Formats: sequence, C-alpha cells, structure tokens
Amino acid sequence: MDSFRDTIPTVDTQGRRVWMYPRKPPTGKRAAKNAPNFFAWRTYLSWFLLAVLVFGPFIKIGGRPLLMMNILERKFSIFGIMFWPQDFPIFALAMITGFVMLVLFTAVYGRIFCGWVCPQTVLMEMVFRKIEYAIEGDAGEQKALNARPWDQEKITKKAIKHSIFFLISFIISNLLLGYIIGGDALIDLITSSPTQHAGGFFALLLFTLLFYGIFARFREQACTFICPYGRFQSVLLDENSLVVAYDNKRGEERARLVKGQTWEERLGIGKGDCVDCNLCVTVCPTGIDIRNGTQMECVNCCNCIDACNSVMERIKRPAGLIRHASINNIEKGEKFSITPRIKTYSILLGILMTALIALLVTRDHVNMDLLRVRGSWYQTQPDGRITNMFEGTFFNKTGTDLEGTLVLLYPEGDLTYTDQTLQLAAEEATRTIVVVSLKPESITGRETSMDIGLEVKGRIVDHVKTTFMAPETAVQRRR
Ligand code: SF4
Ligand code: SF4
Repeated sequence: MDSFRDTIPTVDTQGRRVWMYPRKPPTGKRAAKNAPNFFAWRTYLSWFLLAVLVFGPFIKIGGRPLLMMNILERKFSIFGIMFWPQDFPIFALAMITGFVMLVLFTAVYGRIFCGWVCPQTVLMEMVFRKIEYAIEGDAGEQKALNARPWDQEKITKKAIKHSIFFLISFIISNLLLGYIIGGDALIDLITSSPTQHAGGFFALLLFTLLFYGIFARFREQACTFICPYGRFQSVLLDENSLVVAYDNKRGEERARLVKGQTWEERLGIGKGDCVDCNLCVTVCPTGIDIRNGTQMECVNCCNCIDACNSVMERIKRPAGLIRHASINNIEKGEKFSITPRIKTYSILLGILMTALIALLVTRDHVNMDLLRVRGSWYQTQPDGRITNMFEGTFFNKTGTDLEGTLVLLYPEGDLTYTDQTLQLAAEEATRTIVVVSLKPESITGRETSMDIGLEVKGRIVDHVKTTFMAPETAVQRRR
C-alpha cells in the first residue's frame, strides 16, 4: 500500500530522470472564488522577496549595508549593525536561535519555509518557471515542443529561453557577490572592465553556470536530494503539525463523476468527493500525489490546494478537500492545540532570544586584541629594563572615527606604540606594535600578569589580560 514511498516520481525504475512538466496552477478566472488562492499570495510575497534580493546589497541603514557577509575582510552587516569575528558568540547564538525557530515553525506549520520563502523555490517557481510558461506554454505544449524535431520554432524558443535563464543566473551571481563585498564595491566592479578583475569575473561565470544548471536542469532535485531540510522534516513533524494534507475521510473512495448521478447517490454508494481528476498531481512541481499522504518531496507550495479547490467549486462541493491540516485534524477531527513539544520549543526559543538580545545590547563597540609578536619573548635593555613586544588590533565597530589611548593598568611600567594616540577609523580594524617596558622591581616571575586597557573619550572601553615574559636573571635581580 505504501509502495509509493519506495520510489520518487522524478526517477524511473531504471534510475533515469523523469522530467517534470507541472501545469500552471489555477489563478485569476480559473481559480476558485470561494477559497484563498495561495499561488496569488505566494506571487505577492515573491515580489517582496525578489525586491529584497535585488536591492538588498544597495540598501543602507545608517550608512551601512542592510545585509553584507564579507567573508574575505571578515566584516558582516545585518540590518545595518556591523559584526566582526570578535562577535562570534553572538553569531553562533543567532544561528542556534534561527535553527530552533525553524524547528518550531516546522513542528507547528510544517514545511512552510520551503514553499513560501526558500530562494530556490521562489526563483524556480516565480521567475524561471514563469519565463518557461511564457515562452514554451503550459505543460502540454512544453511536452509537445520537447518531443518534436529541432525545427526553426523549437530552436528559437529554446535559444531565447536559455539565453534569458543564463542572463538571470548571471544577475543572481552578481547580486550574491554584492552581499559578500557590498553594493558599492559591486558597482565599482560592474562599471570597470572585466580585464581589471579577471579572477573575480571568472568566479562569477562559474557561479552563473552553477545557478543556470540548477534552474535550467537540476530544479526540484535540489529540494529532494540536496537540501537536508526535506529529510529533517520527518523527525520534526508530528500528527499535530499543519501540513498540506488530503482529507481522505472526505475524498475516498475516489471515483470519476458519473453523468446523471446526484451527489446523494454517489455518497450513498460509498464514493467520496475526490473525482480522481489528477489535477492536484499535474500541478505539483515535485510530481507527487498528495493523496498518498505527507511525503518528503512536498515543498508546501499549495498548488495542489488551489487546483483541488478549483475542481471542488466546479463540481459544487465545499473547498478544502486538500488543505492545511494536521493528521489528527483529519483522522480525529481535532482542532489545533499547543502540544507539550510546541511549549518546550517555544520556551527554549524565548530563552535563546532573550540571551541574544542581551548580548546585542551589551555588545562592545570598540574592542582590542593583543598578541605577542611571533618569536619575540623579551628584550633586555642597557638600563636593565625588560621589554616585550605585542601586536595590537583595535576594532572600531561604530560609524564614527575615534581616538584611543593605550593604558598599562597593571603592573607599573611604560607602554609605547607607533603614535601616542590610536586613530581608530570607523568600521575598520587598526593595527599597531605595542612595546611594554618594565623595571625589574615590577617583575614578579618569568611570567608577570599584565593588564592593558584601551581608553576612548576618557573611559576604558576594553582591556586585555596577558603575561609579561622576563629572563630568569631579571627575576633573580629582583630577589
Ligand atoms: S484535484 Fe482534488 S478531486 Fe482532483 S484528484 Fe486531486 S484531490 Fe481528487
Ligand atoms: S504536494 Fe501539493 S504542496 Fe506539496 S509540492 Fe506538490 S503541489 Fe506543492
């Protein structure tokens, strides 16, 4: 009975790819009037998400990018807040919080992320698929086009489609690069000749080919085989999770409509509301039959809901034969309830979010790192003083240039560095060599505890505890 779980619709028994030709989901006049049209809602949401994707690298908040993940320079901006490698604990906590949020969302609302906001689905279904429909027509016309010989019309349509696919893939690669290097740097790159940055241009072409391959050929296979989230959902979902579900109680026994038969007669002989039109299967981008139950391949796109609702309206039956429902709702008629599992995830999420907000609010805006210069332990000066050399790195995460001063907080001694003030450029890391000089009486052993502070605007904003190395002779001299 569960044999459909042994195979996937996109691969035949010989292991060959079965190309999917999903039909256009019903919209406009073809859509049901008495039920929401999820495809239209997804379209509106996709406009917003695509606008964010396109304009994201160029939108600035307080002069800083809305979103920038500059791995090369190790600078990150999220909603205009700059993060540095020193903020790794915040980043790690944000990742864990995001993961718990995704788990909670999946436990309650199923795989809603995939169908509504995942960039793969949004770009595939709302951009590439729509271009394909516009050039090659609906599923039937596409099949016919692929089956016919390579005549003038087929060559022209395929050439236009693939050229547009390649161009869009190139634009996506550029935009993703914009999220890495920032919008301004991207504009500089675009407006200069590719010969000035041949390596970067080559990398862009490689990513273009990757995206083109995914959207022109690989398609739904990315969700089925590559994305781990689809596999996770089987452990995240339970009988109370809202999923796209077929109401088998109402739909079975499925059977074609018989001319002249009334609904009373049909229901009287044990037939259900499903008229076995197969429309829900033909609109599914992953090719599954949702009437078999929740399956790993389902990306929650709701096309089958829209399709079935349009059928129900035509045959004058209530909408919702396929709908968002939990297994318990369909099998036992139970309403949605907050289960102990949801409560646990929610409490955990609440704790994580509180910790994250606390970390963000108390985050240092100016930091320092101090590392001993490699290979240098100590130097003995002619006057008997001992010196140690460090490399200091100072991070100004604010949007304003600052002036800092290094202060030796403990023990008593002298501290010199390149200039007497540190010019800390806005959103930059400044480096300088710091030399600490101690008299023998300040040295307590081969390793003396030391505390160096960074003073900005008369306030110690950060300090580093480290050790001062001294030779045995200096220690003995002190004794
Ligand atoms: S669209 Fe609705 S009526 Fe048609 S086969 Fe699917 S579930 Fe049955
Ligand atoms: S089963 Fe329905 S919701 Fe799931 S992928 Fe197919 S059409 Fe979309």
